[in-house]
Amino acid sequence: MAKKKFTSADLFSSEYCQYIRYDFTNSSVEGLSNINYSIKGSGTSIVGSFFSKGSTVIETHSKDEVISLDIDNKEIVVRPTITLSSLYELLIPQHLFLGSVPSYPGASIGGCIAANVHGQNHVKEGCFTNNVKSLVVYHPDKGFIECSPNKNKNLFDLTIGGYGATGIIHEVRLNLIDIKTNILNVKTITFSTLFEAFQLMEKESYHYDYLHSWCDMSIANRTKQPGLISLGRYESGIKVEKYKINNQISKVHMPILINVFGTRLMITVNKLYYFLNTIRRHKKILLHDFIFPSRSNLFYFSMFGKKGIIEHQVLIPKKKARNYLEDLMVIIESASPSVSLCHLKVFSGDGSLLRFDGSGYCLALHFYNDSSGINALKEIDKIDLHYGCKANLIKDSRLSVGSIDKQYSEIGLFRSKIHNHDPLVKFRNNIINKVFNKNG
Ligand SMILES: Cc1cc2nc3c(=O)[nH]c(=O)nc-3n(C[C@H](O)[C@H](O)[C@H](O)COP(=O)(O)OP(=O)(O)OC[C@H]3O[C@@H](n4cnc5c(N)ncnc54)[C@H](O)[C@@H]3O)c2cc1C
Repeated sequence: MAKKKFTSADLFSSEYCQYIRYDFTNSSVEGLSNINYSIKGSGTSIVGSFFSKGSTVIETHSKDEVISLDIDNKEIVVRPTITLSSLYELLIPQHLFLGSVPSYPGASIGGCIAANVHGQNHVKEGCFTNNVKSLVVYHPDKGFIECSPNKNKNLFDLTIGGYGATGIIHEVRLNLIDIKTNILNVKTITFSTLFEAFQLMEKESYHYDYLHSWCDMSIANRTKQPGLISLGRYESGIKVEKYKINNQISKVHMPILINVFGTRLMITVNKLYYFLNTIRRHKKILLHDFIFPSRSNLFYFSMFGKKGIIEHQVLIPKKKARNYLEDLMVIIESASPSVSLCHLKVFSGDGSLLRFDGSGYCLALHFYNDSSGINALKEIDKIDLHYGCKANLIKDSRLSVGSIDKQYSEIGLFRSKIHNHDPLVKFRNNIINKVFNKNG
């Protein structure tokens, strides 16, 4: 069997793995006889949760990605390989789309389900699970199993946010939401501390459809963490404006890795970004430009040289946020890591099993992976535990088994349910190996 190199977006993990092609329309499922498999969607998860040492990577393909579309009942049945951008292109002219979509539109629906991703207004939309009506999951020992909140609920709940551990998501039935227009009126406001930003966002989440935030960590200190929040609301009326969205999946990494964003140049880049986003405080923006802010930014991951980045995304209990943020800024001031990006979200949900969901303030920081970054992160791990935070498994490659065990209260339940479903845990990857404390 052929082998090739798979690398995570953050450049933390790289493995030569065997791989096979799995075609949904022509699937030769009997061929799956190896012990360990990892399933690849678009392959853009930051920690590379679609491969691991010793597993055979299943590269999924489908010629016909849309099985049926029922416009009147706002329902679509698709193969999991379909990307958000292909769905956008198909559905927006019908005034339909999905809620809770992540900022990179090249993600596959299978990847969005397995990571139970979130979008640009969690308070209103929750996580991707709210889009999913039912699934067909394939496991070589069990065959095809249909599951939904009413049928095989256990498997349904384990598969959404289960990082591919239950088997191959083979078919997906999705609920669609009405989209009257693809035009948003966007207002930009500024803030001077992260705590102020979270409070503003919490209030505005109810009044706006989508929110973005950005904090300039290159000049932040204990007393000020300046940044901006963009608040988007649908324009009134029913109108789809002409748009162009690229639905080609680009390569995660460029052939040459240059360190630009891990240097002090970031101070200038951030100043420019702040200036460009505050000269005009009111704008009209097309929907996809707003909900997919990372649409053409995959090159970003190649701009840190060979060291790459570590993204640390954490859900902070609201009542502890003020103290957490004070401690965080003390760490950042003393370790002086290079933080290329910082953004904030407010969550209002319920985080069962391994899902990165719950209620709290969600903070994401991108650290250049050098010794200052790693030292800062080690201290941040301690305050995460102290304040009862939860870090996102699909964002931070460094997370240890010990810290995951402490942060995810239902991890034991997840393990035992997966063992019941598949005693050998045949579907593994960088995340699932960690959860089961296996090194391949
Ligand atoms: C630039 C960028 C921006 C991002 N923004 C956000 C954001 O705003 N919000 C957010 O929540 N996330 C965000 N992410 C994370 C990203 O959305 C998720 O990691 C998503 O899972 C990627 O989808 P993929 O198709 O590339 O998945 P892959 O990397 O291919 O796989 C991800 C997981 O899904 C599993 N999987 C894929 N297909 C199947 C299948 N058919 N059956 C079973 N399991 C399957 C894999 O085994 C793996 O565990 C972002 C990532 C990037 C690179």
